[in-house]
Amino acid sequence: MAELPNWVANNTVNKHRSANRTAALLAVLKSQPRLVSALSVHRKPSLLRQLAVPLLGLFLLPSSSERADSLGKNLARFERSEPHMGTLVRIVVYASSQEAASSRIRQAFDRVREIDQSLSDYRADSELSRLSQQAGGPPAKVGPDLFQVLSASQNLAMRSQGAFDVTAGPLTLLWRRARRQSALPESDRVAAALAVSGFRLLALDAGRQTARLAKTGMRLDLGGIAKGYSADEALKTLRRAGLDRALVAVGGDVAVSNPPPGKKGWTIDIAPLDASVAKQPPLSLQNAAVSTSGDAEQFFELGGVRYSHIIDPRTGQALTGWRSVTVVATRGIDSDSLATAVSVMPPTKGLQLIDATPSAQALMVIRNDQGIRAWKSRRWRK
Ligand code: ADP
Ligand code: MG
Repeated sequence: MAELPNWVANNTVNKHRSANRTAALLAVLKSQPRLVSALSVHRKPSLLRQLAVPLLGLFLLPSSSERADSLGKNLARFERSEPHMGTLVRIVVYASSQEAASSRIRQAFDRVREIDQSLSDYRADSELSRLSQQAGGPPAKVGPDLFQVLSASQNLAMRSQGAFDVTAGPLTLLWRRARRQSALPESDRVAAALAVSGFRLLALDAGRQTARLAKTGMRLDLGGIAKGYSADEALKTLRRAGLDRALVAVGGDVAVSNPPPGKKGWTIDIAPLDASVAKQPPLSLQNAAVSTSGDAEQFFELGGVRYSHIIDPRTGQALTGWRSVTVVATRGIDSDSLATAVSVMPPTKGLQLIDATPSAQALMVIRNDQGIRAWKSRRWRK
């Protein structure tokens, strides 16, 4: 029997999406196995151990249950889902007991909530929004989460020649409104938004931990990177609390640590474009992250044209047509932002960027009048 995937990567549920999309996702979640029965070990202690324990004291040798835990035995599978960051966050862990799992999963969700509260551009009171409100003013001190995400963003902006750009906030705002109102933004508004965007207008000072937005009217949008970062941080929270076999999915951005007991990796299904086309065999990943970006789910149609929620920051226009990019990287902050960047870039350039990123691999699928075409990076599934 084919193994059930641990996760379907392309499953973002944005708050703007329809209720039946959410219902469909919940159905997928319900169909996933909730608990894998724990393997119990009944092993006779070795002679050395029988002698060593009384001599050395209990604390010098791990107890048999601790030793079994580090080998992944005695562990059961636990999972929880909660809405955060405009999407569904799902956490799967292997732990020795329900109590051990629950409190740590709680800490991981709390970490996601904390990041959302500082990085969301939907919240007027977030640290990010306050920074945007100070655009045109002097450099402002920013916290470690925001500084780290802004640094990674600027790095990728340079490497992608501006295809990824978190200063595109005025443009993404225009296109969000366009989607709500089913009307394209007027060209003078796009021009005005373009005039107050551009990653070169954002200056970071690593020594002082400050950020400065050069022009009034600038606005930051971390929608293409913050979910991947949250997945990394939630995974880190679990690891620090002793759970190092875990999966965190923040919508379509998935990060995993060590594999489930007895497995080589976490089985993750990727669904580029839609489930019926270009079906890919599932990925098996450990200590890695995978993100899928594209307009398979978030888009609007007008005059027979499909407009994506991803925009080209250089032209101010939303991407059109069907495309989907899946990126595997070591960290979610990279897989998430690279998937968005590569979506904007021409396939060959985008894949060059992936090949130049250590350990990264990508699959890009584009559908047009001629049919479906897939591009794979050098390391894809190697
Ligand atoms: P999803 O939110 O579906 O996971 P992405 O990770 O691709 O998809 O992020 C898309 C979001 O990123 C948009 O909704 C917008 O907030 C922001 N965005 C759109 N275009 C860009 C771009 N070129 N560079 C950086 N961020 C972008
Ligand atoms: Mg992304």
